Amino acid sequence: MVIARGQGIAYADEGPYERDSLGVLWKRIGWSPGKGRPEFGRVHFLRQRRAMQKLLCQVCGGPSDRTPEGTLWLVEEDADDPGRWKPGDVTTHPPLCVPCAVASVEACPHLRKQYVALRVRAFAPAGVHGALYRPGGPFPVAYSADGVPFESWQIRWVLAGQLITEFHEFTVVDLDTEHAAYLANGR
Ligand SMILES: [Zn+2]
Repeated sequence: MVIARGQGIAYADEGPYERDSLGVLWKRIGWSPGKGRPEFGRVHFLRQRRAMQKLLCQVCGGPSDRTPEGTLWLVEEDADDPGRWKPGDVTTHPPLCVPCAVASVEACPHLRKQYVALRVRAFAPAGVHGALYRPGGPFPVAYSADGVPFESWQIRWVLAGQLITEFHEFTVVDLDTEHAAYLANGR
């Protein structure tokens, strides 16, 4: 049960590990490592948070691919607005390793057009996505789901489900070229 406490929300029976180092309250769920099939774009939220923090591949959970050019990400491309990704844009999707990135777009041919591969050299956690609670009353009610930057006052009123990463510096890359380089380097 979510209650109001101080200037924000809390669990009525809150334990010591339910907030991150910034004091953000996180959703609860049964932890079942190894269960469930990885599905691109749909990441179990504890896995999402861990993968984002530790830069693990969102599909296999191994290390994501990192080169001097940056960490590999697949992000949604808007067919009507190609090249829309700009520094300062954010994602809730963790990075990937090359084999999983290639397998993801091969398994879903439509992804080739809807996603673009990025090598991200500079990035940082920027906030969380979760359920927003409205201040007021002892039992606040969630009214919306949205992203909240860490510096927002609303960070005390969100029940976090996903970590958001902001891209600062990146290059758009060709996944086939990345794959060829990956194979050539025997990584
Ligand atoms: Zn992988």
